[in-house]
Amino acid sequence: MNRVASITPPGLPEEFKFPAVDVGSILRGGARRYGDRVAFHKDGTDVTFTELLSQAAAFANALNNNGIGEGDVVAVHLPNCLEYPAIYFGIMMSGAAFGPTNPLLPPHDLAFQLSDCGAKAVVTWGPASAVLQSVREEIPARLVITVDAELPGAVTLSDFVADASTTPPPPIEDAATKLGHLAYTGGTTGRSKGVIITHANIIANVLQSARGGGSVPTLDAEGDLALDQVGSVEEWPTRLGTAVAINLTPWFHAMGAIGYLNLPIISGMTTVLHSRFDPGAYLADAEKFQVTIIGGAPPIFVALIRHPDFQTRDLSSVRGLSSGAAPLPVAVIEALEARFPDAIIGEGYGLTEVTMAASGNPGWRSGIRKAGTVGISTYGADICLMDPAGVEVGPGETGEVCVRGPQVMQGYHNRPDATAETLRDGWLHTGDIGSIDEDGYLSIVDRAKDMLLYKGYNVYPRELEEILHSHPDIAGAAVVGRKDDEVGELPVAFVKLRDGIVATPQAIQDYVNERVVPYKKLREVHLVDEIPVSAAGKVLRRELRDSLADVPTAS
Ligand code: AMP
Repeated sequence: MNRVASITPPGLPEEFKFPAVDVGSILRGGARRYGDRVAFHKDGTDVTFTELLSQAAAFANALNNNGIGEGDVVAVHLPNCLEYPAIYFGIMMSGAAFGPTNPLLPPHDLAFQLSDCGAKAVVTWGPASAVLQSVREEIPARLVITVDAELPGAVTLSDFVADASTTPPPPIEDAATKLGHLAYTGGTTGRSKGVIITHANIIANVLQSARGGGSVPTLDAEGDLALDQVGSVEEWPTRLGTAVAINLTPWFHAMGAIGYLNLPIISGMTTVLHSRFDPGAYLADAEKFQVTIIGGAPPIFVALIRHPDFQTRDLSSVRGLSSGAAPLPVAVIEALEARFPDAIIGEGYGLTEVTMAASGNPGWRSGIRKAGTVGISTYGADICLMDPAGVEVGPGETGEVCVRGPQVMQGYHNRPDATAETLRDGWLHTGDIGSIDEDGYLSIVDRAKDMLLYKGYNVYPRELEEILHSHPDIAGAAVVGRKDDEVGELPVAFVKLRDGIVATPQAIQDYVNERVVPYKKLREVHLVDEIPVSAAGKVLRRELRDSLADVPTAS
């Protein structure tokens, strides 16, 4: 096989059309179906589906009353909080586009993004005020809204919506083709770029992901989006209205916006919000709220399986585990399988440029999930591998993962060159190297730009990281290259040991080097307290590479 498979879950119709509705339809339909059920819970406060729709409608109407709507971008410079979902849906219901920023961006990057996207308004919070104030003169936005503290020259959210109607504005006309989300990506490796995501892209990727859970879209009596769960698909924890999850995935990131904001609303899930990741608190709440789904990026799973409470908390309610955004080491999957023998463990692969997901391991229980692969293609999309000349590679060969489908971005905002380089002949070139097995399952070998060259040989950090993760004393690991005039790049590992473990760098280096061919051998191992990861759960490799300048070679 040289194309990634697209398999219809048992019992589901072979085909469906993506309805041409706006993103607001997800919330309008969800509120009608799930009403007084709790949508979000944080620190003792609940927001029901009905309340969420009223809050979003008020925000949308208030934006419109202030002259903001179609053609405008509203930046959201917030961490996940109870106000966030209403702001997200409210912006899109107003006709404007959602322009999220990482709330921890330093001033220079924040000024760049807010200018580049031309946001007319910014929604922020107290702790970010100093950074935002420092760039106020450089950014076009004249309207600043804060969800909490009063800031000079800003209006509080409660004042902003005080006189606004809570009746939802009419659906956006021709929403399918309109900008819904301007998502910035690539900031850790260069100047970040705004990814143009339409309402249609979002609807497509939400429905593609829901199909993996055994659902098919329908429209309710008012013409808003609903899901039907098809009965013969085996039990999956997102069965409509039964799921409870704890969320840590940032909503400013693709996986957060689609997987942990839209999908819970369309499927009637209750989400418990945590502001920071504390594995002990996470496990305590998983027991208390009887969560059915544990989802997020790999560092969450790595920390949970290493925590002493992981084996002792009552986690019998957990029926599904879902990972994405970065590779989930096979050793971690095995630990999860041992702890949750009856749960479904799914891993998805995607990137901001495909709204969220390109592929996933099927979320239905039929023994066809393959650990270590990122599964089959999302419905209605094609995935192939190409060589550097843009020619599809033959069966069994590795190549650049390329995606074509309804979730693929329209291009980069104001970056025609980058768009032309990435979108060629209708295919999105992801920059990831992949392989496809005989059953059509995709595996991600590594990101092309993370690959090391040692004497002309390709060394993939991911392969070495997999081995490190299989070591019982290791709680976290990352491999980067140290530049070397003679050989090109030398593989260097950063390792975090489990609490209370004493081990020498040499012992770890030996463990890996006994398991690889000579050119892949680790040349240095450095023990560290933490492996730096982004809020979205990706290892910050540039930070590690930069730190090597201060660390003497350990040979
Ligand atoms: P972002 O656009 O920030 O979400 O980053 C997308 C990149 O994350 C992809 O191009 C991949 O390199 C990586 N990625 C996402 N999901 C996975 C996965 N399941 N396995 C390996 N890499 C992944």
